[in-house]
Amino acid sequence: MEGRDANREEEHLEIQDHFRRNALIIISSMLRWWKDSGKGKLLVDEIIHSIFFLGKINTAPYTPERIIGNKEMLVKLREKFPRPFDYYLSHVPKRSPFSCVMDMMVLLKGQGNEDQIKQSLRDLINDKLSKKKNKRFLVSTTICVSQKSTENNSVRYYGVSMSAGPNPRRILVAAACCSAWDEYVSDAVMTYYPDTVRKQYFDGTIKLPKGVRCDAFDLSDLDDKDPCKLCRNLFSLQVRTQIEEGEISWPYGNCAEAESLSNLLKNEKEVKEKTQQKSYNSEDRQRAKDSVLDELKTLLSEVKFKWKANDFYNP
Ligand SMILES: [Zn+2]
Repeated sequence: MEGRDANREEEHLEIQDHFRRNALIIISSMLRWWKDSGKGKLLVDEIIHSIFFLGKINTAPYTPERIIGNKEMLVKLREKFPRPFDYYLSHVPKRSPFSCVMDMMVLLKGQGNEDQIKQSLRDLINDKLSKKKNKRFLVSTTICVSQKSTENNSVRYYGVSMSAGPNPRRILVAAACCSAWDEYVSDAVMTYYPDTVRKQYFDGTIKLPKGVRCDAFDLSDLDDKDPCKLCRNLFSLQVRTQIEEGEISWPYGNCAEAESLSNLLKNEKEVKEKTQQKSYNSEDRQRAKDSVLDELKTLLSEVKFKWKANDFYNP
């Protein structure tokens, strides 16, 4: 019996160690891209904070010292990026780390080079990171691309799915909802979050204007993916072919569509004006907002993270 328990513990630690491994590969890649191009320093700062935060709340916690390992590298990192070290124990990231990797790729390749952006992310995942089902720490599975229209080569806005395990993922959705996303996306997600049923008193779901593109792709093979039932409920997205869906284990707002549409709505005034939203009054909206913030506080206290409401990290 004891032997079996010890084996299980060993196996558990071995799986958890993929957190450290992926964290180090992602941070090193970001540092290299920043050094080679001189671009994206704030994204490096943001991702270090976000990874340190997720290390702190991981089932097997990882300190920055354990994640980085090499002492010399740690000292240099702290010199160049002191703030993530100062704030990872008090401030919550506004989005998941892989969003910073995605933004870096968009910055380096240019938003119009969709294929190159997708391929670079796929290569990073397939060649370097552990992505087996229970070892997929910090890795997004899906990317989404949105455009005002597919004509005239309009600007592309990207988003990735939450790159964290079940509990951290719920934290990141609530954090993005309270701090990062466009209000329409937050309203839609708040309609169903933290519960998975629609609130009786609030419906902030949206319907995008005709012609808007919102396409998701699997990051391991770049095959296109239909929006899941949750995204269809939130954003009235259409599926190409009706498919039987298995059980959905992720929370509302977890998918790449949320971040991508948020970026579109923040930047394309015309799309925002033509987007239809169900009506609600401001008191009910506040009540829904409070419910998300309360859930965030609860989730953080469950993982023993001391948090002062609204302390989100700004790189
Ligand atoms: Zn979805």
